Amino acid sequence: MKRIALLGATGSIGRQALEIIAASPELELCALSSGKTDLSALALDLGVEHFQSGGDLVSLLEAAEPDLVLNAVVGFAGCRATLWALEQGVTLALANKESLVAAGALALDAKERGGGLLLPVDSEHSAIFQCLEGRTMQEVSSIVLTASGGPFRGRSRPELEHMTREQALAHPTWKMGQKITIDSATLANKGLELIEAHFLFGLPYERIEVIVHPGSIVHSLVRFRDGAALAHLGYPDMRVPISFALSYPERAATPLRPLDLAAGLTLEFEALDEETFPLVRLARSAGRAGGSAPCAFSAANEIAVAAFLAGQLPFLAIAEVVERTLEQADTSAVRDLDSLVAADAAARGIASEQLGKIS
Ligand code: MG
Repeated sequence: MKRIALLGATGSIGRQALEIIAASPELELCALSSGKTDLSALALDLGVEHFQSGGDLVSLLEAAEPDLVLNAVVGFAGCRATLWALEQGVTLALANKESLVAAGALALDAKERGGGLLLPVDSEHSAIFQCLEGRTMQEVSSIVLTASGGPFRGRSRPELEHMTREQALAHPTWKMGQKITIDSATLANKGLELIEAHFLFGLPYERIEVIVHPGSIVHSLVRFRDGAALAHLGYPDMRVPISFALSYPERAATPLRPLDLAAGLTLEFEALDEETFPLVRLARSAGRAGGSAPCAFSAANEIAVAAFLAGQLPFLAIAEVVERTLEQADTSAVRDLDSLVAADAAARGIASEQLGKIS
């Protein structure tokens, strides 16, 4: 029996994880958390003793003693839980990409000390992880992250000027929470995933490619030095990477429909329009700059997305806020969690100032 702590239980990943855990006799829920939603009814219903809304998740995790932490918190708020699991050597199934982006170097150090597993839940990274199984990184020439392109694929900058919240929230292939859906429309999500991939797989940025693949059938690819490229295919459904991470190293049965190749499956790919969607380029340069630059990228993006969702910032200004924040933030090296928290707060301060100047 594997004891699971589910952080972010009421979000899109959290709800799908609950479904998978309920269907598996091997998995037992030992802790639940949410950002704000009261969990007492759900915890009572599921027989979970440890639960919490908001606050510091470390005490919850310490009390629950999980074998696996599924971190599906949104944003920087997931950082302490990520570092706790890695430090303790408790298997971490990571859906909170922002924590690895912001705390990448600290997280890798904690993982080294803890000696536990870090399993990506992000569909692209799960795909890459699966394509890499049994291989060494010396055999890899590059990894290729696929991007659906979001609802505004094929649009030009002038066309995006007046895009509304509702238009940005209408994702063509993935049904997800609001923050990640906006991040998919701006391509900031792919920028975060680029940095996430760098820390997960230890490849330099020039060996991580991004390609637009509107159908979201190929979840990502790995190119090997012998010329072979391995891809991971399936319908866009987060229950696959969630189930993989929760059941690893086994592959549990799921009720999901298999890929219907005979129905006429076509796979289309196109280059990313970096001029219209500058956030991948900005993420790449933040990643290369290192230190707390990735943290500043993610923090500024969180502030800008919240402002956009509140109707206080135009769509194209999201990237502008991030760019200006990266120009002004002090992005020196991160020594510990306290200095990271300070860097995050400073970047949020700069980004918030930009909001007033732009909108
Ligand atoms: Mg993803």
